[in-house]
Amino acid sequence: MDIDGKKLAATFRANLREKIANSGLKPAIAFVLVGEDPPSQSYVRMKGKACAEVGILSLKIELPEKISEAELLNVIHKLNIDPKVTGILVQMPLPKHINEQKIILAIEPSKDVDGFHPTNVGKLITGDPKAIVPCTPLAVIKLLQANKIETEGKHVVVIGRSNIVGRPLANLLSQKKEYGNATVTLAHSHTKDLASITKQADILIAAIGKPHFITKQHVKMGAVVIDVGINRLDGKIVGDVNYNQVASQCSFITPVPGGVGPMTIAMLLENTILLS
Ligand code: NAP
Repeated sequence: MDIDGKKLAATFRANLREKIANSGLKPAIAFVLVGEDPPSQSYVRMKGKACAEVGILSLKIELPEKISEAELLNVIHKLNIDPKVTGILVQMPLPKHINEQKIILAIEPSKDVDGFHPTNVGKLITGDPKAIVPCTPLAVIKLLQANKIETEGKHVVVIGRSNIVGRPLANLLSQKKEYGNATVTLAHSHTKDLASITKQADILIAAIGKPHFITKQHVKMGAVVIDVGINRLDGKIVGDVNYNQVASQCSFITPVPGGVGPMTIAMLLENTILLS
């Protein structure tokens, strides 16, 4: 069965719109976009559109590819001290001459809507209920929750250990709380005999960045498959999972597009409201 992330995201947006309208909150997010990477431009456009739909003010700051690290840090500093700006998102990836970690560190943690600052990462890892959870891991948890897919006692295999997806997600799923309590295996490019491990998964989460990498041989009959991947293949957007091969043997599967992606944007809205 397909997990409909598009529909769930629309429900979240409708609820968030109502929440803003009834609360008097004035959330305002600044998107910082460096250079002209087309996917980054498209992501910022989609995020801005979603903000407008729910009543979050958004400001797009477009900077040239050649901007220096010091100049970018200065832009962030100004946003940090601007009381009208409640959230800051620097669209990744940044040009190679800029140290991404240094930029993340410069963002005021209380405006860090992505939850990438070490202060927020620390809160997440220690199970602080006030942690700002990165949008994609939060999206995956909400998709499981909305479809009543329990994680307690399940073997979850997460493939991919990035700081923005795999690592925080593996951490959340192994925490002692609701939609945690799973036994988590975190796989990556050095994992030996990946298929023998993924075949044991009750819930398999692919966050690899390789089109159609997960095939029939990787998936146990009846497993839940969450495809985080967004890849371009022959002019189309496809996931890390070969959906056509795998769907018939899953109890649940997220399609790409229309699965995790729309919910990731909805979670950005949720984090922005939380910090406003
Ligand atoms: P990333 O930083 O490139 O990390 C990829 C991970 O996959 C790494 O941990 C890497 O292992 C692992 N990997 C690569 N090849 C592998 C292999 N052959 N076997 C096992 N593991 C392998 O990517 P990311 O930022 O986490 O993103 C992953 C995917 O999710 C991308 O397609 C991205 O576009 C997508 N994404 C989607 C959303 C959404 O909203 N749906 C949000 C964010 C990202 P090593 O650590 O050993 O290199």
